[in-house]
Amino acid sequence: MVISTMFPKYSTKIEGGSVTMEQRLLSKVSHLVLTTSKCTGCGICADACPKEAISLGMVGASVRGLAAGDAPITVDPAKCSYCGVCTILCPFDALLVEVDGEPSLPILEQEGFPEYDFTAEICEEKCVRCTSCHEACPHDAIVRDVPVYEGEVEGGAKRQTALVAKTTFVVDKELCTVCGVCSSLCPAIEQKRVPFTAEKVGSEGEIIWTEALCDGCKVCVEACPHDAITVDRTVNTEAKLPGKVSIDKSECITCTWCKQVCPSEAVTITKFFEGELIVDASKCPGGCSTCVDVCPCNALYLPSPMPAVNMKRDSIEANIAINNELCILCGACVNACPSEDALTLKRTGIRIKGPETDLYKKIAAKLCVPRTSKLVESTFGQVETKKLE
Ligand code: SF4
Repeated sequence: MVISTMFPKYSTKIEGGSVTMEQRLLSKVSHLVLTTSKCTGCGICADACPKEAISLGMVGASVRGLAAGDAPITVDPAKCSYCGVCTILCPFDALLVEVDGEPSLPILEQEGFPEYDFTAEICEEKCVRCTSCHEACPHDAIVRDVPVYEGEVEGGAKRQTALVAKTTFVVDKELCTVCGVCSSLCPAIEQKRVPFTAEKVGSEGEIIWTEALCDGCKVCVEACPHDAITVDRTVNTEAKLPGKVSIDKSECITCTWCKQVCPSEAVTITKFFEGELIVDASKCPGGCSTCVDVCPCNALYLPSPMPAVNMKRDSIEANIAINNELCILCGACVNACPSEDALTLKRTGIRIKGPETDLYKKIAAKLCVPRTSKLVESTFGQVETKKLE
């Protein structure tokens, strides 16, 4: 047998949360690895693939773990050219091309290709090291490199180490009887009493105080039966917690949750896409919430019921609503919504840097075709949206 007729060989392997498409040539082996948990079903890769190798499946069911394979997309390993366009354009970092086991972007070497141009920064000066952005980020992109204090976990750093303060602790030796009340109350105080002996039945010794353990609460001052203790503390009120909060740009999906919740306006985010997602709540049948479940930005929500007394006559409560500030126009909701025209995606621009190649221009035009939620299942298990042109 002539060996070259055995190649290329194609295969797909599903293993431990990833799907690996393989093209095996005599000279090299290429892989496209899909991390299932990161794939949101936005379909950007399907629009972008120059070989039309990627198809969109039942997004809602997949993201909810109800569809076979659990991946919202499927890739034909024989159609895929392993160029890396999907890797570059996936906002969720769900796809990776490897050549001979190493991450690779052949399209960049062959003809160049732009990448998203976005800002995701936290101004260190303005940031107060609070926990809001860390908690709000739906994509774990916030790196909060701040000591963990005892309030958060048992055994964490002592809370007083969060302060920039100068504390003085003075014991009036004339008044102190080394009675042991203060040291029994506070780990910052140690009482070293000269052992009682029958020969000398007095109370002698010394009080040792550790500033790093003192939080200036002054309980010792109040509790001292002989008014022997004085504590003074000056605090630098300008100081803030040590450490740093930053954004891992490779994880950031530009939803702006961090920016919206930041109490000190320290965050700057620019999004990948320009445009709008239009929600027509009158077309939403209610009781579905698929879009809410699939939205990677937590931008869609079921509005809280309004008290009857506040409702206008003949008005109907909306079944669905969106906070447009938080939407990144990824399109996952439109791909998942079963109701015609309830959601309409209109991308009007893509922020990129790098060469605007002919291939990129073709892809950008496809990504900017307006579409609405009417799923057409022309091939079993694969869906297309209703394009508006
Ligand atoms: S923009 Fe969104 S994804 Fe990016 S860091 Fe802020 S909250 Fe996280």
